[in-house]
Amino acid sequence: MEKEDAEGATPEQYRFSLLGRASPLDYCNTVDWHSSPESKDRLHGYPDLLDWGAAAGSISAEERLALLEAAEARPLEAAEAFREGIALRETLFRLFTAAAHEADPAAEDVEVLNGWWARTQRKLELRYETNEYRWTWRTDDVAGDLFRPMYPVVREAVELLLSPKRRNVRRCEGPPGCGWLFLDHTKNRSRRWCSMRDCGNRAKMRRFHEKRKGNRENEG
Ligand SMILES: [Zn+2]
Repeated sequence: MEKEDAEGATPEQYRFSLLGRASPLDYCNTVDWHSSPESKDRLHGYPDLLDWGAAAGSISAEERLALLEAAEARPLEAAEAFREGIALRETLFRLFTAAAHEADPAAEDVEVLNGWWARTQRKLELRYETNEYRWTWRTDDVAGDLFRPMYPVVREAVELLLSPKRRNVRRCEGPPGCGWLFLDHTKNRSRRWCSMRDCGNRAKMRRFHEKRKGNRENEG
């Protein structure tokens, strides 16, 4: 199923937009109007992080429940995981914004991602099955580490930054300051809006009004 396809989506998938076409980008898009001073966060605490992880597929439904239970038993740890998770999101937002603008990233942001990557690798296991090697997530003691929902996001972020697809990362130009990130797969890399239905329409309306205003001024 295409991420943009809302048909058959769970309530959680409606709650969180998954149109970025990559989990680190969707994770950044848990803030509305991310590049505006009036941004609105969709994540308010550790349980929201788990809901997002389950909706985006970074954890399974069972893992979500196990982590929720663990977070209730260890609230200080859950609060820290939430804080760090949000800090990671903002780091990713800056890194992918730099990629979208073909600018150099801040060295501190690369450093922070390196720290997360080191932790993430410890959760991965190389397996050989049916003639193929592949990475799998360690499933022993999932609830022992409340940072668990972040690791698949970190892994995908690192892979995306290393791949030529990095050049397809875009930041929505929608007014005012949408700032959502997405992968542009159009042939001539011309997609400008996170979604045509939303920011695309708003921009079209704005252009229409500006043109009308311009015409009136020319006539007058
Ligand atoms: Zn947008």
